Amino acid sequence: MSSSEFRDTLHVKFNRDGVTGYGEGAPIVRYHEDAITCQKALEPHLAFLESANPWEFEKLKSELFRKIEGNFAAKAAVDIALMDWVGKRMNVPLYRLLGLDAADAPVTTFSIGIDTPEITRQKVKEAEAFPVLKVKVGLKTDEPTIEAVRSVTKKPLRVDANEGWTDKEEAVRKINWLETQGVEFVEQPMPASMIEETKWVRKRVHLPLIADEAAVNVRAIPKLVDAYDGINVKLDKCGGFQEAMRMIQVAQSLGFKTMLGCMISSSVSVTAAAHLSPLVDYADLDGNLLIANDMFSGVTVRDGKLILPGDPGLGLKKIA
Ligand code: MG
Repeated sequence: MSSSEFRDTLHVKFNRDGVTGYGEGAPIVRYHEDAITCQKALEPHLAFLESANPWEFEKLKSELFRKIEGNFAAKAAVDIALMDWVGKRMNVPLYRLLGLDAADAPVTTFSIGIDTPEITRQKVKEAEAFPVLKVKVGLKTDEPTIEAVRSVTKKPLRVDANEGWTDKEEAVRKINWLETQGVEFVEQPMPASMIEETKWVRKRVHLPLIADEAAVNVRAIPKLVDAYDGINVKLDKCGGFQEAMRMIQVAQSLGFKTMLGCMISSSVSVTAAAHLSPLVDYADLDGNLLIANDMFSGVTVRDGKLILPGDPGLGLKKIA
């Protein structure tokens, strides 16, 4: 819902026994986090982390959650660095450590930013390699935007309203129109707090509704039953690998579809999420494809499908 020339993320390196684990967290402005607050939140705990036992990553994560309030991107950066280290020490890629099959990784959507109809058409053409596109809606310009996309492609679309509709009747109208436009599902149609209104909307539409801002952590999920059909899990939002897995498992046990999303970040954060992606139904993992200065290569995309690196840990290669 905004455009920017740069985004600051927080990078963490964990060194032990001559092995380095890399982690990254992309702070989310909506939750009043930025790279500086995250860095400051971590600083008092660096000595604790340096003396901690990385093999006890689950215990370590719990202690970090007790010590640090908010700043989930900082927690995610540490958690990812520890898991990269553990995978490297065990000499297995993370997906294997989790018992997953890399061949089950889903297709990722590619995001088309909001722009004029002319530039939107151009962006859709440039996204030719991606079989499913994601479009931001929830604005006055939704119809011209979708029509511009549809004028150049028949590909399935997924849309994210980012809490954009505050009127439930407008939400129903928009969602039912989007259904006629070949849209597969709608992410966060109404503000996160409007759970009752979203339940009302869900009874009057056919398209699945996916919770993003409404599903900040595992505790938030049970009350979303009947309001949503799926849950968008992000490492930066929930605080890392361990929490993301917990969210996916709880969501699935309650009958939700699951999705992995990301923020704008380097390949560190996106590759970490990709290692979990064989667990979920949908992926929206394109944050690393939208930057010009990626310091790492990791997960790649072939015909839209996420291809997980086979090297130990996250499987990253430093390229800059
Ligand atoms: Mg979203």
